[in-house]
Amino acid sequence: MSLLKIVEYPDPILKTPTEPVADVDAALHQLIDDMFETMYYAGGVGLAANQIGVSKRLFIMDMTEDKSAPMVFVNPQIIEQSGEISYQEGCLSFPGLYLDLVRAQKVTVEALDREGKQFTFTREDYWARCLLHEIDHLDGVTFLDHFKPLKRKMLEAKFEKLCKRRKM
Ligand SMILES: [Zn+2]
Repeated sequence: MSLLKIVEYPDPILKTPTEPVADVDAALHQLIDDMFETMYYAGGVGLAANQIGVSKRLFIMDMTEDKSAPMVFVNPQIIEQSGEISYQEGCLSFPGLYLDLVRAQKVTVEALDREGKQFTFTREDYWARCLLHEIDHLDGVTFLDHFKPLKRKMLEAKFEKLCKRRKM
């Protein structure tokens, strides 16, 4: 396994919708293993393929604190969402930036698993938020895109400042 570099905003790959995965094969398994290693190392709970520079419709997630339940979502689609809730979230592609935003409270997703088998998955609250955040990534949408242009400009400037401080 190897650690991959996490792409940070404003890299254009984060704004580009990903391509559907055609084959769940050995190469994809390698990518998935590397993504888990990278996500765990970075301390994240979810990671989309385009966040490591691969424009494929695939994300991973682990909802446990002891890294015991890795989940793979290949070609995920939202099939149902309901409710509304505002909560704070962060993103590995925006280190240091945490934003409150409104998302659905409950979501059902359909996807293929690591073996290419179809499954349906429903979650509420925090984990629904995580699913929606990762699927947004695959659609070329970041959490900044949930804000109106003026507010988004402000947040972009704030993130730029955070980056400069980090590099000093
Ligand atoms: Zn993210």
